[in-house]
Amino acid sequence: MRISGRSIIGFQEGGTTGEVFRATRPWDGTQLLPDFVSATFEEVTLAARLAHEAFATYGRCSGHDKGALLRKIAAKIESMADQVIERAEQETALPKVRLQGETARTCAQLRLFAQVVEEGSWTAARIDTADPERKPIPKPDIRSMLRPIGPVVVFGASNFPLAFSVAGGDTASALAAGNPVIVKAHHSHPGTSEIVGRAVQESVRECGLPEGVFSLLFGSGTQVGTALAQNPLVKAVGFTGSRRGGRALMYLAAARPEPIQVFAEMSSTNPVFILPGAMRERGEQIAAGLHGSFTLGAGQFCTKPGMVFFGDNADAVAFTEKLRQALPSVPQFTMLNAGITSSYRSVLASRKKDPAVRLLAETQPSAEFSVGAALFETDATSFLANPVLADEMFGPATQLVRYSNCAELMEIARSLEGHLTATIHGTEQDLREFPDLIAVLENKVGRVVFNGFPTGVEVCHAMVHGGPVPSTSDGRSTSVGSQAIFRWVRPVCYQGFPDAVLSEELRDTNPLAIWRMVDGELTRQPIGVPSGG
Ligand code: NAP
Repeated sequence: MRISGRSIIGFQEGGTTGEVFRATRPWDGTQLLPDFVSATFEEVTLAARLAHEAFATYGRCSGHDKGALLRKIAAKIESMADQVIERAEQETALPKVRLQGETARTCAQLRLFAQVVEEGSWTAARIDTADPERKPIPKPDIRSMLRPIGPVVVFGASNFPLAFSVAGGDTASALAAGNPVIVKAHHSHPGTSEIVGRAVQESVRECGLPEGVFSLLFGSGTQVGTALAQNPLVKAVGFTGSRRGGRALMYLAAARPEPIQVFAEMSSTNPVFILPGAMRERGEQIAAGLHGSFTLGAGQFCTKPGMVFFGDNADAVAFTEKLRQALPSVPQFTMLNAGITSSYRSVLASRKKDPAVRLLAETQPSAEFSVGAALFETDATSFLANPVLADEMFGPATQLVRYSNCAELMEIARSLEGHLTATIHGTEQDLREFPDLIAVLENKVGRVVFNGFPTGVEVCHAMVHGGPVPSTSDGRSTSVGSQAIFRWVRPVCYQGFPDAVLSEELRDTNPLAIWRMVDGELTRQPIGVPSGG
């Protein structure tokens, strides 16, 4: 497939009058062809209008039809996998094997949502049947279910060019819920975005759906994203990226005449607590796992463990030494783009200047565009006194924090802001000695990991990839796993309706055989048939 560099606006191609930019190879800064043309304000408006018009049809599509679309997108991406991976490698410097895994994950994610909507119980149908004899007033027939909200804007992430981008989790979950999607491609992997965008566009066409179900807009700078977040026909935003970008979009969305929600996944430092028993029994093993986790993908994961807390005792010495020695095993890394490289260098520089922090080890890159790994250390008193030390270092670096007693450990845990994950390495005895730690941490994060590492986010039904502010804009939701669909819906109640005009989910006969709550009882039975019958 030829990459055109033009936005995809429904079934139409974007114009050539907008500002032009190119992708660059992260290894050496070489510009990659072709030119990509930023969408104009008129094109943003057109994409939003088409999405709004498509919603009238797509928002009422059956789970079967939405499932067919999601499965077709997955199959098309698979059929283009070689081209997608080759281009993504050039644009992101991520290794082919990682991109192969990400392609498989993207397709599995699309199929997971297909399965969810085909089965149908996710709509949370509730039925309270009428009781005309109720005294003093008759009880009406009341039914409710989750309905889609309208056009959703998705900002592709820099660090997951496939699984969190054009046909990634936000798009898959929003489409599954019944919402048209407009993607703002990330400027650093526009070619990858276009190839996947064409796969989605073709799928929409082949499924006989209205063109506005999907658009993909290019843009470098903030204009396109700003215009999308402000467009009155847009009803929600999904974002993965920096805290600054996420907050800017949240403020824009809140200041609209009709404020909308921005589901922004921003920064997270993912605290790890190594309790004394675990440190004693397997400190060196934990050090090896931790090294693998914080350097994985050049540390460019939102779940990278960026601060590690443990007791200041003799067992910790071997652990620290093992971690220090592991660093040179992967001496240098190429980051996703020049902006991320320079942010990483500057966060390392300021951490090195901090008098409360000690650089334990660092690797020196030999190539101009590469960076090294870094291991820092500080103590609990300094950590508690200086909130900057809890900030994300997006790259292959982590910071060890020594505490001197249980009370200090609990003070640290209570002082944490919202993160995506927290990890505890412990024995059963450790858990008895720190009985409140889990209770404190579950208020701070969306996922608590026990004796494992936070990188590697399973796409499944129970996953929660979201945490309290500031890790995300709304800790009540997840951007990974099938529960992500609930960000893009709202409950609607139908009172006194004739059966024939209700959605299938709410009809007496329960033609979809979904799980529903009927008069307070979960059942798949049609109305009038007792659950046991
Ligand atoms: P970013 O700069 O926030 O950009 C993400 C997307 O939002 C891009 O499409 C960008 O447009 C757009 N955007 C940013 N600010 C905007 C604004 N004010 N108005 C409208 N649109 C806006 O994030 P990034 O480029 O992916 O990475 C930068 C930093 O974010 C990293 O160094 C890292 O610290 C952090 N990050 C964190 C995570 C995480 O999950 N924790 C993931 C990725 C990045 P353009 O494409 O045109 O720039």
